[in-house]
Amino acid sequence: MFSVAAVVIASCIGFSNDPPNPPEVALIIDDIGNSYETGRAAVEIPHAFAYAMLPFSPHAKGLARMANSLDKDVLVHLPMEADHDNHLLGPGALLVGMSQNEIEKSFRESIAAVPHAVGVNNHMGSRLTREPEHMRWLMHAIRQRGGLFFVDSRTTGSSVALKWAVREQIAASFRDVFLDNVQTREHIEKQLNNLVAKAKQNGHALGIAHPHPLSLAVFRNWDPAAAGVRIVKLSEYIKKYQGFGGSSAPPLQSSGFSAAECGNHGDHPKPTQDPYTKW
Ligand SMILES: [Zn+2]
Repeated sequence: MFSVAAVVIASCIGFSNDPPNPPEVALIIDDIGNSYETGRAAVEIPHAFAYAMLPFSPHAKGLARMANSLDKDVLVHLPMEADHDNHLLGPGALLVGMSQNEIEKSFRESIAAVPHAVGVNNHMGSRLTREPEHMRWLMHAIRQRGGLFFVDSRTTGSSVALKWAVREQIAASFRDVFLDNVQTREHIEKQLNNLVAKAKQNGHALGIAHPHPLSLAVFRNWDPAAAGVRIVKLSEYIKKYQGFGGSSAPPLQSSGFSAAECGNHGDHPKPTQDPYTKW
């Protein structure tokens, strides 16, 4: 397995292995844990998706065990302060006003609340993921804990989370496409096509979706092989494409748009220039 440093260096000098054939796609379903029924329906989708559990939500533990028993990856969906709609954060949120000790303590409690977790991604977080100091504290805590990777949900184009994950030498990657910010079949299918196109372009792509009934219905009927891609477990994806993921790295400081928080929370302005989200 490449080290993070090796991947970053390889990226810098333009070296890469031959792209996988077929291209590889990983997909996270966020916001799991408040509803047993929708969580179970998501976990039972017959694809190797990963499931991001809201810590302290009533069904996080049970659904995490269920996902693990089906050989699916479990993440802690760590709530982080946003620019808007912070009433949707839920318990365990990391906030700009917290000290390093408070960030570390809250992180440890959230990890302990989700059994079988192999990674962390951010729930909301457009405010906190722009803070270098807080991201350094968090990534340091993740490194200290050991055995966890990090996925930047990229709810803002100005996130420095991935940069600090790499600096702390944590296996990490980033979200390429939000699949279901708009709850219409047409939009979700279009975003799946965008995810596939990105995977064919870069050799790999990572999507994030939510346990909405319509999203789950689309995924249930989706045939990745017919689309020309292969779904891989997120843990496998991270091992291969950690760090900046080769030549597909996004700018860490981009146009400064405010993307929707974790998909569909509120009426955030849509990005206008970010080349990595097609919505
Ligand atoms: Zn979320």
